Amino acid sequence: MDETREEVARRRLLARRAELRAARGAPGGGEPRSIGEATGELSTYDNHPADVATETTVRAQEVAFRDGARRAIERVEAALRRLDQGTYGRCLRCGGPIEEGRLAVLPEAELCAGCARASEREELS
Ligand SMILES: [Zn+2]
Repeated sequence: MDETREEVARRRLLARRAELRAARGAPGGGEPRSIGEATGELSTYDNHPADVATETTVRAQEVAFRDGARRAIERVEAALRRLDQGTYGRCLRCGGPIEEGRLAVLPEAELCAGCARASEREELS
C-alpha cells in the first residue's frame, strides 16, 4: 500500500523525535548532575583547578547538547502539529512550498531553502 506524502512525513517526524529523545538521554540523562556527583566525590574542594575546569567544560557541553536536542524536538513537534493542521510543507516565512528534497533530509524544516538562506544571512549580519 502506498503511503501518502503526509503519512511519509509523519513517519519520518516520529522516527526523528524518537531518535532525538534517545540522543538527549544518552550522556547522563535526566537533569544535569552536580559536579560532585559527576566526579563521584562529595566535594570538588580539593580537586586540582584544572580538573574542575575540564569537568565544568564537559558539563557545559552536555547541557548545550541537551538544550539543542530539546529545541530540535520542539521543532519536530511543531511540524507534527502543522501536519494535523494541513499546513505541513509550507514555508512559515513566504508561505511557499518547501522543497521535497529538503523535507526528505529535514522533515521538520520550517522554511523553504531560499528563506532559510536569507534568515541565516540575517543571523550572521
Ligand atoms: Zn520561504
